[in-house]
Amino acid sequence: VGAGTADAAENRILVFVRLRPMSRKEKEAGSRSCVKIVNKKEVYLTEYASENDYLRLKRVRGRHFCFDSAFPDSTTQAEIYNTSTADLVEGVLQGRNGTVFCYGATGAGKTYTMLGTMENPGVMVLAIKDLFSKVRQRSYDGNHSIQLSYLEIYNETVRDLLSPGRPLHLREDKQVTVAAGLTQYRAYSTDEVMKLLQQGNKNRTTEPTRVNETSSRSHAILQVIVEYRFMDGVNIVTRVGKLSLIDLAGSERALATDQRTQRSIEGANINRSLLALSNCVNALVEGKKHIPYRNSKLTQLLKDSLGGSCNTVMIANISPSNLTFGETQNTLHWADRAK
Ligand code: ADP
Ligand code: MG
Repeated sequence: VGAGTADAAENRILVFVRLRPMSRKEKEAGSRSCVKIVNKKEVYLTEYASENDYLRLKRVRGRHFCFDSAFPDSTTQAEIYNTSTADLVEGVLQGRNGTVFCYGATGAGKTYTMLGTMENPGVMVLAIKDLFSKVRQRSYDGNHSIQLSYLEIYNETVRDLLSPGRPLHLREDKQVTVAAGLTQYRAYSTDEVMKLLQQGNKNRTTEPTRVNETSSRSHAILQVIVEYRFMDGVNIVTRVGKLSLIDLAGSERALATDQRTQRSIEGANINRSLLALSNCVNALVEGKKHIPYRNSKLTQLLKDSLGGSCNTVMIANISPSNLTFGETQNTLHWADRAK
């Protein structure tokens, strides 16, 4: 076993799949379920949904996928948080950066998973709640501060979601790329954070034709920076960890490629940040030395939070409905390649 193998293991991305319940709209449209989750890990996908078909599919390659975990539609927000993100929060307190992405088609449940609702808060809110409680437990041995920022990338334009206004420029600051002038919010309580994020989400870009709906092309990025200051003998030591929680743009059509050349098709439907993220993830998974962070705003901002010694988690969101079979298949293939 060479050193390269150890590096590859360290760079491994944890990949989870979350199936959401069938919506009323999907039921009313007469849709059937085309996804089945077995053994908390395996996902079976079929256009024909009888029990026999699932059994037969076990022997068919390409429509059976296995992940670190697959969450059925009954899974609670707390279960999602505990399995996917709790360890990363612990890592951040140790000074280790971590990133969680939600990937999937529009309507598949990304925002529900990340932000959630007032009644059922998602990963972003549960992570901050957990951070507060862990910091309180440890307050005897040092000082912690928790700062958060919430930004959007839309058409390669970066905007502050906590203080909307002009687009922000990215600048290099000691190996790290930051958005100049981005609000760093000093957080003290979970309730306050939930309201802040809900408000921030309302500031996301909407399409002119659908003013109440967040554009499917918008990425929302919450970054939480935890600074821990403690005495080591006579010295003051500062340890900093960063957690990035990302509600990605809808994956439908965003990664369209020309089947003959495998090149991405340039055009209005291409989401540069999503494509660049895919390329970085693939390079990391393949153990490449060069990771092409520079190709988009999203990957520039995540340069210090993706790969290396960082913890990375991908949650692929899918709908059970056979009406979105193609999108679900694309999402599962994409997630499969990230393993
Ligand atoms: P996306 O952000 O991927 O476009 P949403 O998170 O907005 O999708 O989800 C679409 C709809 O489905 C929303 O009304 C949301 O509340 C609902 N939904 C998504 N996931 C779940 C879930 N696990 N349980 C209950 N409702 C969900
Ligand atoms: Mg959304």
